[in-house]
Amino acid sequence: MNTRFLLFSISFLALSLSAKAQLMTDKNEFTQQDTLRGSITPERSWWDLTYYHLDVEIAPDKKFISGKNTIQYKVLEHQSVMQIDLQEPLKITKVTQNGKSLKVVQNGNAHFVYLKKKQEIGKTNSIEVYYEGHPKVAVKAPWDGGFSWKTDKNGNPFVATSCQGLGASVWWPCKDHMYDEVDSMDISVTVPKGLMDVSNGQFAGKTENETSTTYNWTVKNPINNYGVNANVGDYVHFTEIYDGEKGPLKMDYYVLRDNLEKAKEQFKQAPKMMKAFEYWFGPYPFYEDGFKIVETPYLGMEHQSSVTYGNGFKNGYLGRDLSGTGWGLKFDFIIVHESGHEWFANNITYKDAADMWIHESFTNYSESLYLEYYFGKEAASEYVIGIRKNILNDKPIIGPYNVNKEGSGDMYYKGANMIHTLRQLIEDDEKFRNILRGMNETFYHQTVTTQQIENYISKQTGYDLQQFFDQYLRTTKIPTLEYSINNKELKFRWTNIVEKFDMPVLVSLNGKAQWIYPKADWKTIPLDGSENTFKVDPNFYIETKKL
Ligand SMILES: [Zn+2]
Repeated sequence: MNTRFLLFSISFLALSLSAKAQLMTDKNEFTQQDTLRGSITPERSWWDLTYYHLDVEIAPDKKFISGKNTIQYKVLEHQSVMQIDLQEPLKITKVTQNGKSLKVVQNGNAHFVYLKKKQEIGKTNSIEVYYEGHPKVAVKAPWDGGFSWKTDKNGNPFVATSCQGLGASVWWPCKDHMYDEVDSMDISVTVPKGLMDVSNGQFAGKTENETSTTYNWTVKNPINNYGVNANVGDYVHFTEIYDGEKGPLKMDYYVLRDNLEKAKEQFKQAPKMMKAFEYWFGPYPFYEDGFKIVETPYLGMEHQSSVTYGNGFKNGYLGRDLSGTGWGLKFDFIIVHESGHEWFANNITYKDAADMWIHESFTNYSESLYLEYYFGKEAASEYVIGIRKNILNDKPIIGPYNVNKEGSGDMYYKGANMIHTLRQLIEDDEKFRNILRGMNETFYHQTVTTQQIENYISKQTGYDLQQFFDQYLRTTKIPTLEYSINNKELKFRWTNIVEKFDMPVLVSLNGKAQWIYPKADWKTIPLDGSENTFKVDPNFYIETKKL
């Protein structure tokens, strides 16, 4: 998601016993609940998720949900206590294994389930977790998410879930940590007759009950927790087959009845997006699950194979250009940005929220790659340079580990500019594209750490990028190139850098492009002539200071 609006409305809520994890808040004190939520506790590490069947009924008139989640897992160690997460005010009413009720000890949002059956290593077992209640209402979806209980213009319920950061346990019981993804999932959502639920993956049929309808969806690929969603409304549907890198891809669109014509026009950008991103990143990572855009009463989110959309069928970010260059109005921000996350967030997923830049920096850069594909390199450069005005350098991009907390919102604009700078160093567009595609192949359907991404890029480029990543991801300092120039010489050095930072820079010296290799100590290039000129390539995200 994009952080821009939040900058105006950051509120710091007093810490309570329960974990608060809205995205992009200033929180810097953490509780035991944050650790239970954000770390791989002993009650999580001994079992490996294999499958979920979430079966839930949503009652918009009462703002009430009830149902169960079947959690299937493989035993990795001999243990007997399992941590299942579900956030208050929702209540777990019963947990069973092989039909027997189990003891559950609650600690805030963490529920410790005491298994009776011997857990044999290598065996696959399952539990059923029954639950119900009035789930948290979204305050400002999707950043401060939960349930958005809205109505459409015709008075029909229009309901959606969103939970990145906060976690899926805000609306269903699960192992709410990103390191472990299920291999596949079924989602059954029961809604009042006349309404439709759209969730992730392919439609697998519906069942008519007396006063309700159950919609079944099946996800054949690993899926992250926050990617799972339910959207309920008076939806109409249209579809197309996209001829993609891996063959025919089913692309489905679900919008409110009154918006069908607008959507048919605006969503022509979806296959265009698919074409550009398959070129840059490789095949769409979830062919078996299809691709969907689903209208929601909030701005949008990268729900896996079910991108949600509330951008008003207009180009830009709610009609605005975040770059101030005009290029941001050439595409629908939500279609492009949220779909870019199918590669960076849903295919390659962070293990710990501290590493959320892996999702947002690459996806933010995907916006300029989309522009490059259709409007050329200059347009793309102008866009990524334009978004620099949104960088705050308030705190490092990487956040604190093991407490479910992401780093600075700079992971968007600064992260994109870091990647753009890296691309200048690589100086080979084909190689750069192969790195992006290679990442999506190497880390296909995996959860990863920053270290893995850094190592991969260092290896592929052949450069030691340790200081480069330290500088941009772990400090708020912008490398500053100090220089002086006269008729005899050019002098330059790096300041405001981490130790051993020695990034080369492409400059124009007397109108001629050349690389210089600054370090912390002064370096000199002898010159002759009286009219020497010097300019740094603006594609580098650095500062310059003429002495
Ligand atoms: Zn995003």
